Amino acid sequence: MVCSPTLARDTDRRTPIPYHAILFQKTKGLCGFFVTSRNVISPNILAFTSLATTEAVVLSRMTPPDDYAYEVVACAYHNLLKVQHVCKTFFTFLPSIPTMSSKNIVIVGGGTAGLNVFNGLTAKLATSTTTSIILVTPRPHYTSLPATIRMVVTAEGELEKHALMSFPESFNEGNKKVVLAKVVSIEDDETKGRFVTLDNGEKIEFSVLVLAPGSKWEGPLDFPESVDGQLQWTKDWREKFAKAKSVALVGGGAIGIELSGELKDQWPNKPVTIVQGDALLLNKTYPDRFRKDIERRVVKRGVKVIKDDFVDDVEPKEGKITTRKGVAVEADLVIPTRGPRPNTKFIESLGSDTLTDSGFVKVKPTLQLANHPRIFAAGDVIDYAEQKQAAKAPNHAAIIVNNALSLIGENPKGLINYKGSTELIVITNGKNGGAGYFDILWGISIGDWLSSLLKSKTLMIEMSKNSLKL
Ligand SMILES: Cc1cc2nc3c(=O)[nH]c(=O)nc-3n(C[C@H](O)[C@H](O)[C@H](O)COP(=O)(O)OP(=O)(O)OC[C@H]3O[C@@H](n4cnc5c(N)ncnc54)[C@H](O)[C@@H]3O)c2cc1C
Repeated sequence: MVCSPTLARDTDRRTPIPYHAILFQKTKGLCGFFVTSRNVISPNILAFTSLATTEAVVLSRMTPPDDYAYEVVACAYHNLLKVQHVCKTFFTFLPSIPTMSSKNIVIVGGGTAGLNVFNGLTAKLATSTTTSIILVTPRPHYTSLPATIRMVVTAEGELEKHALMSFPESFNEGNKKVVLAKVVSIEDDETKGRFVTLDNGEKIEFSVLVLAPGSKWEGPLDFPESVDGQLQWTKDWREKFAKAKSVALVGGGAIGIELSGELKDQWPNKPVTIVQGDALLLNKTYPDRFRKDIERRVVKRGVKVIKDDFVDDVEPKEGKITTRKGVAVEADLVIPTRGPRPNTKFIESLGSDTLTDSGFVKVKPTLQLANHPRIFAAGDVIDYAEQKQAAKAPNHAAIIVNNALSLIGENPKGLINYKGSTELIVITNGKNGGAGYFDILWGISIGDWLSSLLKSKTLMIEMSKNSLKL
């Protein structure tokens, strides 16, 4: 360290300025010093001196918390870009600094969570000329998952025309952009840079990254990415359900229950069985009285429910499957409805400690990744003790929008924490039935009439469209 902080000069005002941190950036023979004023980094280059060989370090008089220090380093890197032509004029030995768009906010996943973050950020940064908001997602449309459960069973209502919602042109205007691709890996490194790599080989640099790749579903909900693919998939599954003489649904959560209701709407006499590993339908998030009530409603429609048992082999043999306890279940079509897994394989590129054993993204209460303060996660993929639901996405998004803006210096309020959401669920039982539970007051349950009004009849299609600005 050879440069004295007293050399600090504001390049515009030409007067000494107070400093809170001195950055010492050493990259392949380059050594730069920057003065920062709290978390606003001014593009002041103070002195360029001596050659250095070690990693970048942060020196601070205020001993700021980790996140603050990180911010300072990242911004300093950006400032290097701004001033590199000045430096080059005086110090011809300086190497070129790779280009980095330090104000790209990249969102991975155009589902419920990704779009909530996208809309939240674009509203706040509508007039920004320095920040771009880039949505990376393989589909040119939003798939309204709650509507797909009926869409794959019946052509009635042509739900495919409503449940697959194209992104509006405004998503590609101004500082907004949609990139149709899948992210295959992520780099977040001081020296190598911060960027995502797409399945087409392209790289997009980011200053802030939001991961919202959602869940991987099984059976009829495991849709391909393209519109044509999704339509063909839908047609094929409608045929499979129509052709099946009997159906077994392996998993008695919300998906199994909703699918059983759709099947009974179409074919009241077709045998449908739900096999559930637990002693009651759904899971322990909900009180037993609600879990028993939903079973009563399902059974009333002619669905057989086998509890406390499992199916290991989902391939039917001679029109039946056999459970772990040896119970024969009539079924020539078996659908896994066990609940989804997080779609996070590509996030392993950030390090094995980024994900839990089940593949969920470990997050801090700020929804930042523990060792990657510029990366956030939202939606179904976060490791948070709550039910994975679209209803949680606006709450995740509100935290991430605030915190992302704070990181890029557009929000003086600082970082805030996610404190959880109220658990509420409405489960369809065909078009005209269902049940719901709201974890408020003493725990409020609703029945067929209100559930149909809220969800079963409309499948919340218009509501999703409006709330996601599609
Ligand atoms: C039948 C059914 C009924 C439901 N009913 C309700 C309900 O009533 N209420 C409720 O709150 N929730 C409900 N849900 C759950 C809800 O749909 C999900 O919780 C919600 O969609 C999760 O949002 P998400 O953004 O995390 O994931 P998704 O909405 O699944 O979005 C993920 C997006 O990421 C994209 N993606 C994936 N991998 C990559 C990658 N590598 N690169 C780029 N993009 C990628 C995907 O293509 C997709 O667009 C229901 C789900 C189903 C299936």
